[in-house]
Parts: sequence; C-alpha cells; structure tokens
Amino acid sequence: MGGTVTRFAPSPTGFLHLGHAASALLAWGSVRAAGGQFLLRLEDIDAQRCRAEFASAIIEDLTWLGLDWDGPIRVQSAQVAQYQDCLARLQAMGVIYPCFCSRSDIAAAAGAPQGEGPIPYPGRCRARPASEMAALRQAGRAFAWRLDVARARAMVDRPLGWDEIGAGWVAATPERLGDVVLGRKDAPVSYFLAATHDDAAQNIDLVVRGEDLRAATSVQILLQALLGWPHPAYRHHPLIRDATGRRLAKRDGDVALRDLRAAGYSPDAVRKLLPDWVGAVTLSV
Ligand code: GLU
Repeated sequence: MGGTVTRFAPSPTGFLHLGHAASALLAWGSVRAAGGQFLLRLEDIDAQRCRAEFASAIIEDLTWLGLDWDGPIRVQSAQVAQYQDCLARLQAMGVIYPCFCSRSDIAAAAGAPQGEGPIPYPGRCRARPASEMAALRQAGRAFAWRLDVARARAMVDRPLGWDEIGAGWVAATPERLGDVVLGRKDAPVSYFLAATHDDAAQNIDLVVRGEDLRAATSVQILLQALLGWPHPAYRHHPLIRDATGRRLAKRDGDVALRDLRAAGYSPDAVRKLLPDWVGAVTLSV
C-alpha cells in the first residue's frame, strides 16, 4: 500500500475515548508501515457543539498515544468558502433544493417512528411550488439545502459503489438516507459535504472509520460522482462497546483517554485494551 493517504477526522465535541483510539490507530497502522501518509483533520463546522479546548485535547491525546501525522492539521471552520463553492456547483446542477422544514415538521410528516436511525426526509419542500419557495426566501425564512437524491442518482450514468477493504465491491444505496442536508440552517455545510470535499482536497485514498458511518459512505460516493472527485477505498471497522454492548459515546461521559492516563495507564497499556482488529501497531514511542 505504498503511498496510500489516510486520515483521522474527529469532531472536537468532546474528549477522545477508546473508540477513537482504535480508529486512529487502525488508520495509522494501515498506512505507516508501507510508507503512506496519515493526516489529521478537525471537523469543527458545528460551532454550537465544537470547542477549542476539545481540539487541543485531541492533539494532546493523540500525541500521548504515540501517533504523529503528516503536514498541517486541516481545520474545517477555516475552509467555509470552499464548501460554499461546492453548494453553488450543486445548485447549478439542479440537485439541491432549499428546505424550510423544522425537525417537528419532518417528524409529523413522517408519522409513527420507523425504528432506529434518522427519519428520511418526506420531501415536502422538494415538491413545493416555485412561487411558494420564492415567497419564503423573500420573507427571509431560514432554510437548509437538501440533496435531491433521486435526481442526483439519475444524473450519474453508472453503477455506484466502493471498494471495502477485505470485503470487495459494495453497491452504494444513497436513497436509504433520503434527501440529506448538505447546507445547514445553523452551519454553512453539513458533515456529508464537508468530509467528502476534504477527502478529495486532501487526496485521501483510504478512509478508515467506524461502521456507524457506512450509510454516510453511500451519500459521499454519490457526491464524489457528481462533483468529479475520485472514490477512495473504505474500511469500516466495528464500534467499541462497553460490557453491556452499548457503543461508547462522548456525550455519555464514557471513559476518556485522558481519564485512563490520569488513572496511570501508559499508552501501551491503553493499546492493550483494544480489540485484535486494531492490529499490531508499532509506534515510535
Ligand atoms: N467527524 C466524524 C466523527 O467524529 C468522522 C468523520 C469521518 O471519519 O468521516 O464522527
């Protein structure tokens, strides 16, 4: 895999835990032994939830763990103009539309909960007459930009999918998440578009991340096809769970790497807590 470029792209919304350590070490170990590059990106476009202190803590924790990265750290909040250009391109292609719906409008239109996961958008604003849309925009109502997934898919005249390391070709099913938001009401861009843009801008050819983002991969493959960007290979790894089977989450106050460090764990002892699929990673410290 000589020359492969991968990345770790945490959002500074909390302290890193063992799940992040596993993901970062797997990505690092997937390329470093063969001379590839490992890049670090801070996904901080959500100004409400991201904090500078978490960004510094991420850098400190990764360094403590023995990881290093190539080149400067990419910080998404400094790239907003690039994301806006992408939205303008998608708008010119006619594959995004303004959506004025609130969360409660969407929940009400979707009816009874359909099981776990986000509710796919029921399409109200996609079908809004142009005159009504213009009036809402003129009235200064806040809106998000949504991807018209059916129209976008129809514009790409080939099978869409990706190479999943260890499993081969996987067909993309972007319609499963529905008309996702690409430009947010409360932030200039959504995760789907910012991460896809940056993977292309950073020449990432291997994305290593948790299997919770597998559905997002289908959307990102579609965006890559629309915007003429290459498709990286992906490796979606299992999530780290606690003894009751619940996935670790920053918001639930799961044990952070810095808590383990404060409790006297060495980086090596932390690595030994991780499952076998992380692999034998030889670090320089
Ligand atoms: N920023 C995302 C997260 O912290 C990860 C994005 C990615 O790896 O594509 O969950």
